[in-house]
Amino acid sequence: MIIQNFINGQYVDPIADGWIDNYCPADGEVYGKIPDSSADDVEVAYIAARSAFKSWSILPVEERSKILLRLADLIEDNLERLAEAESEDNGKPVKLAKTVDIPRAAQNFRFFAHAITQFSSESHETVGLDAINYTLRQPIGVVGCISPWNLPLYLFTWKIAPAIAAGNCVVAKPSEITPLTAHMLGELCDKAGLPSGVLNIVHGYGHKAGQAIVEHPDIKAISFTGGTQTGAKIASAAAPLFKKLSLELGGKNPNIIFADCDYKNMLETTLRSSFANQGQICLCGSRIFIEQDLYEQFKIDFVDRVENLQIGHPNDENTDIGALVSSDHLDKVLDYIEIAKEEGGKLLCGGERVIIKGFDQGYYMSPAVIEVSTDECRANREEIFGPVVTIMPFKSEEEVLNIANKVDYGLSATIWTNDLNRTMRMSHAIHCGIVWVNTWMLRDLRTPFGGIKNSGVGREGGFEVLRFFTEPKNVCIKY
Ligand code: NAD
Repeated sequence: MIIQNFINGQYVDPIADGWIDNYCPADGEVYGKIPDSSADDVEVAYIAARSAFKSWSILPVEERSKILLRLADLIEDNLERLAEAESEDNGKPVKLAKTVDIPRAAQNFRFFAHAITQFSSESHETVGLDAINYTLRQPIGVVGCISPWNLPLYLFTWKIAPAIAAGNCVVAKPSEITPLTAHMLGELCDKAGLPSGVLNIVHGYGHKAGQAIVEHPDIKAISFTGGTQTGAKIASAAAPLFKKLSLELGGKNPNIIFADCDYKNMLETTLRSSFANQGQICLCGSRIFIEQDLYEQFKIDFVDRVENLQIGHPNDENTDIGALVSSDHLDKVLDYIEIAKEEGGKLLCGGERVIIKGFDQGYYMSPAVIEVSTDECRANREEIFGPVVTIMPFKSEEEVLNIANKVDYGLSATIWTNDLNRTMRMSHAIHCGIVWVNTWMLRDLRTPFGGIKNSGVGREGGFEVLRFFTEPKNVCIKY
């Protein structure tokens, strides 16, 4: 499988003819090559985007919207094919790709096709001075979108859809680890009638192609999702160029369980919020705090359920836990199990490499539950981004709030309780961008999405992201 860049509506080889191997996590085999693009490829993509911007930015909103709706339909028409590709490239169970990743990619385009027709700006009558001030919201021009490997098409389109809906043209780079569905998107854009150059997809390494996008002087905004360290690098490269930046970074999210919760619902959802997508979702609740009275019961029931999760080939419909995304990532996650044990954590289950018959070189591991007696350990403070959770009891609301807020991250939190007053107190006091009460990852695309502290800067979703992808201009008219 040869993946090419998609520039100006055409699939093209990288200029320097450099290629990177693409691995299948389920069996560890190389199954494709992707372009090792450089600044030269980014420049060609930028020129295509700049030239498309002239007509795309003035196309009536209804026309842009129709194209995005066609793209959403085409993604749905190709759901099986895209889901299989996503699963092959990432290692995630194909049933997850079919029910979450690909439907959401279609929804991203459909949502922003509608949202842009409802987007509005303010007008102020400046009373006493006989003037009217209004705000023009104009597209920025050419913008850069850089996305990670964990939810490949889902997060790639979460950026591209609002960017182009708002009238921008895009130079986008998916993760070099999961390029396949982004590659397939090019052909669907063409079928949907998206004019050439509106979306340009450049593949390759972050430090090379990604950095060239960030450092390009005329790409005026960067929307990035990925690791916190990468986010810091991007911020320092973009700052002297005065670019608009949206950074969606790592998380170490608390899952706080009070004894008065709806136990069955909490247990089932906690299983999902811990291990969905092999725990490789920035929103996974990897630190579980349980009120003392419920702790022993929870420990028994939770570990029992975790031990019953099916680890297997992503294509198997019975698989709950597929392969981790790469060999390096598997090693990193397994290292954390050792670190946790050295720091006094008690491994209650899992945490071992698993060999699946016939796929010996695949990157599988059993989901791990680690009991910790203090939150001051690396397993409880650092983002592991794999099928690993820590569990720890707490005595009071005050104590758990303090522990929950102590980490450097602030993306999301989950709270389980049926006490309304506690819900209000906790959700206001917790330091993060998203709070789920008695649920997890229930998404309404109109809501602001993002984190605080080391989890990022800015918000995606709804009108927030349409504001990000437009420049407000004040026009003052004296009459
Ligand atoms: P990563 O930071 O390694 O890579 C993300 C993307 O950035 C890739 O496309 C990569 O090629 C590119 N990149 C790397 N270095 C770059 C550079 N110097 N300049 C420009 N681009 C560069 O992240 P990852 O390992 O792909 O993804 C996992 C991380 O993403 C986790 O930390 C996870 O929490 C985070 N994440 C956050 C969210 C969120 O919404 N907050 C969502 C999903 C994942």
